[in-house]
Amino acid sequence: MPVIPLLPLFHKFNSQYFENSLAVNNQPLVKVRWSDNRLKTTAGFYKRKRINGLVDSEIITLCHEMIHAWVDRILKKNEIHGPNFLEKMNEINKKEKNFQISVRHSFPIERRELKYIGTCQNCGEKFFYRKRIKNIACKKCCVNFFNGSWNKNCLILFD
Ligand SMILES: [Zn+2]
Ligand SMILES: [Zn+2]
Repeated sequence: MPVIPLLPLFHKFNSQYFENSLAVNNQPLVKVRWSDNRLKTTAGFYKRKRINGLVDSEIITLCHEMIHAWVDRILKKNEIHGPNFLEKMNEINKKEKNFQISVRHSFPIERRELKYIGTCQNCGEKFFYRKRIKNIACKKCCVNFFNGSWNKNCLILFD
């Protein structure tokens, strides 16, 4: 299976849609070590390419996560899919010819596959996963309380 690098796409979107605000000296500002399926995927900045020629849903997910990073880190607003997120999403969707971002978080994953429920030990929010993942932390709490760094106080634990 061919692999496509996501890092160039990150920089492309960053310049197209975020006025390069998400990178400093060409290094992505977003630390993507913590959290869940999606962020773990973008952490490596590599993703297997589907052969069907359609835009890989991971690319949409990358863009979606970049909006979150922009709202969190640049606007410093405490919201998930609030007005700032939606405004940026709509702006990108208007310009983007190849794909459309949605507010759905589990875009690449069928809902029925998300059978594992993890709970953030800090805020109590529940998250849905395909499998149990060790040492993942709640993004919102890491951002709000630990400057965006992974911290064991916001571990997501599974039942
Ligand atoms: Zn989201
Ligand atoms: Zn939390």
